[in-house]
Amino acid sequence: MYLLYLDDSGSADNPADRHVVLAGVALFERQPHWFSERLDALAQRVWPDNPAGLEFRGGDILSGRKHWRGVPRQVRHDAYAEALGILAGSGQVHLFGAAVHRAAVSPDDPMERAFEQICNRFDKFLARLHRRGNTQRGLIIADESTYETSLQGLARDFRTVGHRWGQLYNLADVPLFVNSRATRMVQYADMVAYATRRYFEKGDATYFDIVSHRFDAEGGVVHGLTHLRPAAEPCNCVCCRQKRS
Ligand SMILES: [Zn+2]
Repeated sequence: MYLLYLDDSGSADNPADRHVVLAGVALFERQPHWFSERLDALAQRVWPDNPAGLEFRGGDILSGRKHWRGVPRQVRHDAYAEALGILAGSGQVHLFGAAVHRAAVSPDDPMERAFEQICNRFDKFLARLHRRGNTQRGLIIADESTYETSLQGLARDFRTVGHRWGQLYNLADVPLFVNSRATRMVQYADMVAYATRRYFEKGDATYFDIVSHRFDAEGGVVHGLTHLRPAAEPCNCVCCRQKRS
């Protein structure tokens, strides 16, 4: 089975954000243990007194909030880069992400559209594995704080809503919601989502570039990342460049 851990960045209710971003990390079922241990080890170095209490969330790390308050700026920035580097260094990691410009999908719910994109692309990834003789089911695991109202509602009606998007053949069950404090894997998803948001929202590729090569791709074509934007708004991101060429 493949597990896709998801988190959002850029609240759908915050009008200052043009984009809603949903992104995360897909791994084979045996991998999360190893990746969690790597993040535990990093937490141990940053905060030896209480490593288990140190939650990795992109926004908190870079702005020194919550448990990251009092950690020197350089240490925080290095820790974020190192955590993303763990994902970047593994060929077992398949990233998925969707950046949805609100104006591009209005009056639709941008988070619903982002979720639709990710579900479809994860399903197609599993279909590709199946064609290669590696049949796997997929399960989506999302941060429970993620867009609490609409994404959870969507999950509740997943079978009917999912049907509207074209049948999802390879998912084992409806998405599950977990507390991000309880799993390091959702924390990885948050760090990917935050790096992706900075890329699309602020044009800052510093952290996105560390992991961008891990978005699901085949033969040089990126399938795992999508950008929905108004047609009139030019964009030179990796997705829009690819669409033009
Ligand atoms: Zn773009």
